[in-house]
Amino acid sequence: MEFNLENLVRDNIKKMTAYSSARHEFKGNANIYLDANENAFGSPLPVNYHRYPDPLQWELKEKLSSIKGVPAENIFLGNGSDEAIDLLFRIFCTPGRDNVLIFPPTYGMYEVCAEMNDIAIKKIPLLENFQIDLEKIETAIDINTKLIFVCSPNNPTGNSINRNDIEILLNNFDGLVIIDEAYINFAKQKTFIQELTEYPNLVILQTLSKAWGLAGLRLGMAFAGKPIIDYFNKVKYPYNINTATQQLAIEALNNISSINNWTKTTAEQKNWLIEEINKLEFSIIIYPSDANFILVKMNDARMIYEYLSQKGIIVRDRSKVILCDDCLRITIGTPEENKKLVSSLNDYTK
Ligand SMILES: *Cc1c(COP(=O)(O)O)cnc(C)c1O
Repeated sequence: MEFNLENLVRDNIKKMTAYSSARHEFKGNANIYLDANENAFGSPLPVNYHRYPDPLQWELKEKLSSIKGVPAENIFLGNGSDEAIDLLFRIFCTPGRDNVLIFPPTYGMYEVCAEMNDIAIKKIPLLENFQIDLEKIETAIDINTKLIFVCSPNNPTGNSINRNDIEILLNNFDGLVIIDEAYINFAKQKTFIQELTEYPNLVILQTLSKAWGLAGLRLGMAFAGKPIIDYFNKVKYPYNINTATQQLAIEALNNISSINNWTKTTAEQKNWLIEEINKLEFSIIIYPSDANFILVKMNDARMIYEYLSQKGIIVRDRSKVILCDDCLRITIGTPEENKKLVSSLNDYTK
């Protein structure tokens, strides 16, 4: 079999006519806009919020294009990565018929979106070393398998998935391989963005929610070949990224000097936390992390979670998740926050 995008797309999506917004149809420059039923007088805010935003966010995409080294036409922007994940299901997966592969323990939204869209989910657990199980993957793939989600670095385990293994999927799977790189800025592993021209079946997800410090803005990115991006644009809500988010994201991307420092400090703080947590007698394993969090196996993880909560420190209890028995996922905080965490842990007695 050869990769053929048109064979993957749902029939109804191929046939449908996309919504055409007023601003979409008219491409020139005008100075009187009486086409979209906006309030012509202005907005109660000091900016131009009375006008609909650019549906394709070109200015912001050009900015991202120069930072990421990808043409703007290869970028889709969503209301968080979660929008891109949902659209992948709605474009490619026929409810009640198709299936997708995920590798637990991993990010929860893949399964939520699958269930929401009535798509079967085949779970191939990671191996003990948290790498993907290529043999089981090969036998699980059938003609209705449309998407494979690879989260790298993986949430909640923190490790990157071996590059060779991902390349094997990209070279052998006729559906789409989605690499979720939400934590790529913290990783030693390099991004797959440069491989976009080589693999027509590759979709890369990134987000401004983690290293970029903009979780509140809700801006996720998908990078893919233009035919895939065209389908995203066909199916998305016309004005999915509001004016405020577009403008603030451009402002933030013009002002990125702090980001590298924060990422560097996060790496130093991660090493320090690992050293300190290793000294605790109830700590069993701290898994190697390529992200801004660590997964720690401890005796009585649930009890420690409750204890920390009482002290006002919230971590993520993953102790009921497959391969994560007795594990807590701890985000790297500021040096002061990390000190408080360690001193609370040091005070813990059963
Ligand atoms: C946090 C996270 C995201 C980000 O989602 P947004 O909707 O962009 O905030 C995506 N994937 C993974 C694996 C994450 O951990």
